[in-house]
Amino acid sequence: MQDLINRRFPVLDKGFVELQDMMGDDLAIVNAARVSFLGESKGEDRDKKLLFYLLRHEHTSPFEMVEFKFRLRCPLIVWWQLVRHRTANLNLQSGRYTPFEEDDFYVPQIWRRQSESNKQGSEGQIDPNDGDTLTQALLQHYDQGYKLYKQALQAGVAKEQARLFLPGFSVYYTGVWKMDAHNLMRFIRLRVADDAQWEIRQYANVIFEVFKQALPWTAEAFEQYQLKRD
Ligand SMILES: Cc1cc2nc3c(=O)[nH]c(=O)nc-3n(C[C@H](O)[C@H](O)[C@H](O)COP(=O)(O)OP(=O)(O)OC[C@H]3O[C@@H](n4cnc5c(N)ncnc54)[C@H](O)[C@@H]3O)c2cc1C
Repeated sequence: MQDLINRRFPVLDKGFVELQDMMGDDLAIVNAARVSFLGESKGEDRDKKLLFYLLRHEHTSPFEMVEFKFRLRCPLIVWWQLVRHRTANLNLQSGRYTPFEEDDFYVPQIWRRQSESNKQGSEGQIDPNDGDTLTQALLQHYDQGYKLYKQALQAGVAKEQARLFLPGFSVYYTGVWKMDAHNLMRFIRLRVADDAQWEIRQYANVIFEVFKQALPWTAEAFEQYQLKRD
């Protein structure tokens, strides 16, 4: 567990996931459930069996006894979706306080095609030559936006307003994001799914890998009873 804390997992071109802190483990879940009849651990086999029973029967409150606190660096396009998960506690970098840097923008490696079956989704990629042209246009757009941002700052405009010039959805923000294991499983289930946006899926996949290492029994039961069922 300790080797997971503060390890930085790169995501997208400039983002990352870092587990800053964690409270509890698989046994904490089992012991929380046993408080119902004032008992504690009864050995590995029976503890694991109880944990699987809890998840299978959606006795979820013991899973809320474990907390994960992540430090995330994501483009706003991803934060926009992360904030919809209301059971997370969140504190974000302030663009009113900290000026943005020139390379604080997300540059995708490929340009995905609009999905034909899912109006919200994407599939495959467009012709790579057209993609290169779009990437050059995007970089110019970032450059232009950032120059205007700096120009506004130099003219004395407050950072809170100068940021109107920045290409909004692409800018990277760092934040601290905390969630209990019960709600984190829900987040993972929704955001590793094929219909979630590719960018948030990259974060959810890494968070899931951390989750598996931190709570191996819970992750196994979660895959068996919730992910496979989906
Ligand atoms: C593929 C996909 C597409 C999406 N598209 C859109 C979109 O177009 N527009 C959009 O706005 N959102 C969209 N969302 C976000 C989605 O509607 C949810 O807000 C998001 O997935 C968080 O889920 P949640 O509410 O279950 O999680 P949380 O907010 O973490 O809540 C977990 C659970 O707690 C309970 N809960 C939390 N808050 C309340 C509350 N106030 N009242 C009652 N119960 C509560 C609910 O049981 C909820 O399921 C999309 C999500 C996905 C995965």
